[in-house]
Amino acid sequence: MRTTPPRVAVVTGAASGIGLATTLRLLADGWAVLLADRNAANGAAALEAAADLGHEAATAFTTCDVATEADVEAAVDLAVSRFGRLDCIVNNAGVGGAFGAISTIEQSDWDYTFAVMARGVFLGIKHAVRAFEQAGEGGAIVNVASVAGLSGGAGPQAYSAAKAAVISLTQTTAVELAPQRIRVNAVAPGPVLTPLLARTEDRVQDMRDILETTQPWPDPGRPEDVAAVIAFLAGPDAGFVTGETIAVDGGQTAA
Ligand code: NAD
Repeated sequence: MRTTPPRVAVVTGAASGIGLATTLRLLADGWAVLLADRNAANGAAALEAAADLGHEAATAFTTCDVATEADVEAAVDLAVSRFGRLDCIVNNAGVGGAFGAISTIEQSDWDYTFAVMARGVFLGIKHAVRAFEQAGEGGAIVNVASVAGLSGGAGPQAYSAAKAAVISLTQTTAVELAPQRIRVNAVAPGPVLTPLLARTEDRVQDMRDILETTQPWPDPGRPEDVAAVIAFLAGPDAGFVTGETIAVDGGQTAA
């Protein structure tokens, strides 16, 4: 009996939070996943978590800084050489970004935020498309944006602007790449309790404030809630969906 080879994904920022939940969800759905993250210690722990669930053969980890083109190129090439193909990249890696009034933000913080979250997504798209074009079978790209990129409010300026860039890039590349059957979509999570958000007490308080004031749904978001939407966008059930940004935010943007 012939078995279907697994679909293959690269997930950036896969060692923690939403990236780790996405990795475990894709593995449970039968994908093979290359985990790409700059944090090798957390990457090793993520690989162990996947192995404990029986997915050892379907996973590999590479240390990768998504702001560095050679790293992203190498991660995509490793996925293809290790698993034989590439069907999807999830451009998820992200950092908190500089907080505070616009007049207090250092240029270096602004540039760093954009390097990881805007340049990183651009590089992920660029190199995944290179691999998709070589195989000629289309592909799927899922970018992790944020509700902060969809509207104003008192968001951290650099972070919000970088996420707005991700949403724009999702739309422009979706149009460009549709003739090659390459779909490009994004998710825009609201507050999700991950290490990124829980890093400081201020940010946890921000989340409590949002829950009390602007988010209709009474519970905080979980990484698994976002992972489920990413998995949908990555797979064939979303075969006619492209250029879309889906808010996963407990109704925050609708309110
Ligand atoms: P997290 O801190 O739990 O995980 C982020 C991962 O990205 C970490 O493993 C980190 O090592 C990795 N990373 C950071 N910079 C990197 C780089 N330059 N190269 C490679 N890896 C890098 O955070 P999370 O909350 O899971 O965030 C994942 C994504 O979700 C981010 O893009 C974030 O902006 C977005 N997001 C999060 C929330 C939230 O409330 N947690 C809300 C909206 C959007």
